[in-house]
Amino acid sequence: MRISIIGLDDERFNRPLELIANLFFEESQIILANTEEADIQIKFHLEIQKDVAVTAELKDHNGKIYSSKYQKELYAAHTEKERFKQIKNAVSHVYLTVLQDWTGMIQKWGILTGVRPTKLLHKKLQEGIPVELAHKQLKEDYLITDEKIELMQQIVERQLTVVPDLYSLKQEVSIYIGIPFCPTKCAYCTFPAYAINGRQGSVDSFLGGLHYEMRKIGKWLKEKGIRITTVYYGGGTPTSITAEEMDMLYEEMYTSFPDVDKIREITVEAGRPDTITPEKLRILKKWNIDRISINPQSYTQETLKAIGRHHTVSETIEKYHLAREMGMNNINMDLIIGLPGEGIPEFTHSLSETEKLMPESLTVHTLSFKRASEMTKNKEKYKVADRTEVEKMMELAQDWTKKHGYVPYYLYRQKNILGNLENVGYSLPNQESIYNIMIMEEQQSIIGLGCGASSKFIDPITGKITHFANPKDPKSYNDSFEAYTEEKIKILEELFSEKGSPA
Ligand code: SF4
Repeated sequence: MRISIIGLDDERFNRPLELIANLFFEESQIILANTEEADIQIKFHLEIQKDVAVTAELKDHNGKIYSSKYQKELYAAHTEKERFKQIKNAVSHVYLTVLQDWTGMIQKWGILTGVRPTKLLHKKLQEGIPVELAHKQLKEDYLITDEKIELMQQIVERQLTVVPDLYSLKQEVSIYIGIPFCPTKCAYCTFPAYAINGRQGSVDSFLGGLHYEMRKIGKWLKEKGIRITTVYYGGGTPTSITAEEMDMLYEEMYTSFPDVDKIREITVEAGRPDTITPEKLRILKKWNIDRISINPQSYTQETLKAIGRHHTVSETIEKYHLAREMGMNNINMDLIIGLPGEGIPEFTHSLSETEKLMPESLTVHTLSFKRASEMTKNKEKYKVADRTEVEKMMELAQDWTKKHGYVPYYLYRQKNILGNLENVGYSLPNQESIYNIMIMEEQQSIIGLGCGASSKFIDPITGKITHFANPKDPKSYNDSFEAYTEEKIKILEELFSEKGSPA
């Protein structure tokens, strides 16, 4: 869909208008000019004084006109960026309204296209805005529907129950450890995940680098007296390395990291059931790690085959029982809505299989077409459910979790997600993953170690976020892990210097 925009010349409008258009149409292009080549034309009129007043007018092929008006007071902004954001939101407001009227489609998240909607509500509450007023503002300023505001409220409340000191954890950090290997690569995956077979040389050097990073960062944290809130092993699949390698890795963690017995939670993704063995479970138990993830994604065998997950449904169930028997008492399982060839019957089947297992937490993802995945490159090969069916499956997940005592405790959205929906983590009460809350709400720094691990540094005073990513492929990692470690320590030094550290 090509949309000609008249009356807005500032190039900065281009991207936000395109993101909103993508909520309605497959691929959109915004042209900030009057052009014959466009499929539709939207005329804006913008007046900026003490208020920002904006109107939009969309004329369809039959000459029918859809228009919208919005006016909002501009609050004093500290920066030009902040000021523009207010104008952009006002423009988005009328733009979304005319597109909704024209297409008949309602965007439940309103003009929000970002990944973390709950952060917005946390921010308002942290500023001392009463809950009801915060909800009213979300509805009026962003056009978020009551249904989604209620979901946000439920999640925020749950997070503050699980982590009552969420807003004051800036002086601690969490650690993410990325292990970039998997038995095989799945079709929808864009994570750093290299098929492990025949790569022992590369695994050895990678682990050498990772141990080095753990020692260096651990030493720095000990020297500064900074505590660790949570540790998360992800990837790839961290259980695709051998039991012996896992043993040495956790030993390194206990030796190098400060006060490991005080860490609130240690999670290891054992995502692929084909990597789980009794020996590896014994090692996890030995090091007191009892939160793991075993990810079925679907309980339909043909689907697993189509997406390149080379394990069987019965293997998932078998490994789940094995993990239970061997003392894992906090197991998360992931399901994906809208996998190729799947509709309501397949998803209902996945939920009824989940019912037999009752994991402590269930994360329900909605399929997204990530640009770099095999599935996006060969999109025509993969048939997926339409918007209405995807929405129904999401409702099924909501009803099922509610009925079985699970509560939503984190959510995030992605670009190109089917039906413009969201990914939601549900959990039985008090089994929530604290790490997931930390990563979503951005209330403390997360230091990424290992391949493809991104660090997110949050300034303890200003809250400003600095991103820093380790190399994705093992070869570049092995060539440069020392330099990357130094760089991270430099950033940490600045953030946690005496001047920067909170009282
Ligand atoms: S198991 Fe997970 S990380 Fe590995 S290839 Fe599949 S989706 Fe990617």
